[in-house]
Amino acid sequence: MKIPEQLIQSLHNTKGFNSKAFEALHESGETITSIRINPFKTTIEKSAFNQYENIGWCENGYYLPERPSFTLDPLFHAGAYYVQEASSMFLWQVLQQTITDTADKKVFDVCAAPGGKSTLLATYFKDGLVVSNEVIKQRANILNENITKWGLPNVVVTNNDPKQFQSLENYFDAIVIDAPCSGSGLFRKDEEAIDEWSENNVQLCSQRQQRIIADTFNCLKQGGILIYSTCSYSTEEDEAIADWICDNFNVTNIQIQLQAEWNITETQSVKHHAYGYRFWPYLVKGEGFFIAAFKKNDGDTDANKIKTQQLVTTSKNEIEVLQSFIQLSSAYTFFKQNETIRAIESKWLNDIQTLAKHLFIKKAGIAIGSVKGKDFIPSHELAVSILSSETLAVIDLDKEQALQYLRRQDFSVTSEKGWHLVAYCGLPLGFIKVLPNRINNYYPNEWRILKQ
Ligand code: SAM
Repeated sequence: MKIPEQLIQSLHNTKGFNSKAFEALHESGETITSIRINPFKTTIEKSAFNQYENIGWCENGYYLPERPSFTLDPLFHAGAYYVQEASSMFLWQVLQQTITDTADKKVFDVCAAPGGKSTLLATYFKDGLVVSNEVIKQRANILNENITKWGLPNVVVTNNDPKQFQSLENYFDAIVIDAPCSGSGLFRKDEEAIDEWSENNVQLCSQRQQRIIADTFNCLKQGGILIYSTCSYSTEEDEAIADWICDNFNVTNIQIQLQAEWNITETQSVKHHAYGYRFWPYLVKGEGFFIAAFKKNDGDTDANKIKTQQLVTTSKNEIEVLQSFIQLSSAYTFFKQNETIRAIESKWLNDIQTLAKHLFIKKAGIAIGSVKGKDFIPSHELAVSILSSETLAVIDLDKEQALQYLRRQDFSVTSEKGWHLVAYCGLPLGFIKVLPNRINNYYPNEWRILKQ
């Protein structure tokens, strides 16, 4: 693995950089596998993760001794855990130290695909609302899939350019910008990133990062927290951006307390001495990463009147048919997107109406299903959400049957006619419909496992 010489040269004066250790690490071929478990999808299997080494800065994060085939693990598809690089889970620690009261907070994940930070945010802000945005359409589909599998009802997935959020002034309590970057921190995991690296690209990324921050900063309330991160080692994309933020906005940079055994390197930017946190992979058990946090000092604590859009409501008859299928807590409100009935906690309805006016919403809350005459057709989103297992009976499959289900192959179960949730280790995977002479498999075709 040949690390670009210009990158090595550019890092010589950066705190914690050791060129020999850096090059040796990239030569070593060592890899690290880590996952973050979903505390809302508890199964007997989950406790098995406790045998693994915990990631010190994130209570739900674990290192695995080797990389299993995640594709062939039904629990992966059930959203029991997310495969996430360990350093980036430090976001959990930053949140714990900057936002202790999480109730009813609105959080904006600006660059969200494939969904690592958003699933972490949805977990941390379980009583809040996470707007998880991705500008690139195809990547927004992957984001949607991962958010759906995670199964929490407090997420809205949008597919917008950051500047389209400008009308949501003073709206969010926190903004996370995990910015597109030159990617040097992931060289060990992705050798192709080495070929794409250039000094010119570092400059272009730095400009793009500034643009994304400038486009979204006004969405933050007074007192709100901006968290900025990259997986680049280049100071132009890290400490220099921290200085740029301090130059252009009225913010206070926040120092994060570190435990010595984490071996994370605290740096300070040249001009404003803003604290940032660097993850050097020869010091930390994780990939290259940078993160810094800021508090906004000016602006308003409340969004002024922002235009809203009425959502399509569900009829009494539709609610009755839905409730004959599933009883949901009265904390939820229903609305319709095309023919699909969705559920969102009632306290977020106004916010969904605001977001719907200004953004392209791919998914808000949980799709419950649609009404066809007297019949209710449940959505896959409902199956893998934490709403389903509370109320619907499940048929537990063994591993082989679960994989057949996830491949959309035929398999047999003995059960009464009608709709059933199928599960693995108690965690729902999706719906089937049992007919007199066959079983219809409702696992989404586009998500089916192709690997044998
Ligand atoms: N936060 C994600 C996670 O933890 O899974 C990773 C985000 S990745 C580092 C950066 C994302 O920014 C990519 O999904 C990329 O498509 C998106 N992106 C690229 N150009 C962008 C732009 N101009 N504005 C906003 N996002 C952009």
